[in-house]
Amino acid sequence: MTAQILDGKALADELRASFKARVAALTQKGHRPGLVVILVGEDPASQVYVRNKVSACEAAGLYSEKIVYPADVAPAVVLQKIAELNAAPNIHGILVQLPLPPHFDEKAVLEAISAAKDVDGFHAENVGALAQGNPRFIPCTPYGVVKLLEKSGIELAGKEAVVIGRSNIVGKPMALLLLNAGATVTVCHSRTRDLAFHTRRADVLVAAIGKPRFVTAEMVKPGAVVIDVGINRLPPEAGGKLCGDVDFEGVKEVARALTPVPGGVGPMTITMLLANTIEAAEREAGR
Ligand code: NAD
Repeated sequence: MTAQILDGKALADELRASFKARVAALTQKGHRPGLVVILVGEDPASQVYVRNKVSACEAAGLYSEKIVYPADVAPAVVLQKIAELNAAPNIHGILVQLPLPPHFDEKAVLEAISAAKDVDGFHAENVGALAQGNPRFIPCTPYGVVKLLEKSGIELAGKEAVVIGRSNIVGKPMALLLLNAGATVTVCHSRTRDLAFHTRRADVLVAAIGKPRFVTAEMVKPGAVVIDVGINRLPPEAGGKLCGDVDFEGVKEVARALTPVPGGVGPMTITMLLANTIEAAEREAGR
């Protein structure tokens, strides 16, 4: 069996094209969607992510602004800026790029963002709403995964879903979304005993681990749908290329459907950030 490749790039392009009319309608009414991305420090990967987010906004017609602070900035300065942005009528989404330097209380920063502008969906209020099955802002990466599954016609109700990873950014909200969609969900993590026992039961397997090619063909049930969230840079001696948490070449011979890296979940993540920001502006315009 050779797996169907779930093309996140193509779906992302289609969705972004469909956003243009919504952005134009909002702009015409004086509610052009606006996103501010705050970056603290000079982490190279974060710089790339922030650049990509800002340019995706510009391409879709949103207003976007990048605010960069040095790594040693006082947390109070960032909190003050967030308070200003919470009150700014032209800004509908505020995003703080993670991770923050160690002298920051990450949770305090995320909680300082108004829940109504928390387009990353990390505020406790939005996490709670998702847990209750009544989501307002869904974290962008798992939101993108669910959209990709939905658009690919992959049914989730009644399926065995296994998520590897329990982070607040990916694993936990992913598990909640799968649960809300009617799947029977198992969450595995670094302390899970006999991981392969669980993964081999999965009709839908989501890998969000951060370890290159960790999920091998032997860990996958024949005919499963495999979603690779991982983004790992291989060392220069191994070619320096990006790769996922799934051994693509091996798993594609076993799975029914599989996301590639790059071109799978990654493009969907930024797309859902745009979707959340547009939705925030639509809510504001409707008030
Ligand atoms: P994280 O480091 O916060 O979490 C990793 C999780 O993997 C942890 O819960 C840990 O328990 C689990 N884990 C680690 N080793 C394990 C093992 N041996 N067996 C089972 N579980 C194990 O990472 P994260 O922020 O959740 O990101 C995970 C991956 O997804 C990373 O590669 C990251 O770069 C990528 N990512 C991609 C996108 C995207 O847009 N595609 C977005 C966010 C994160």
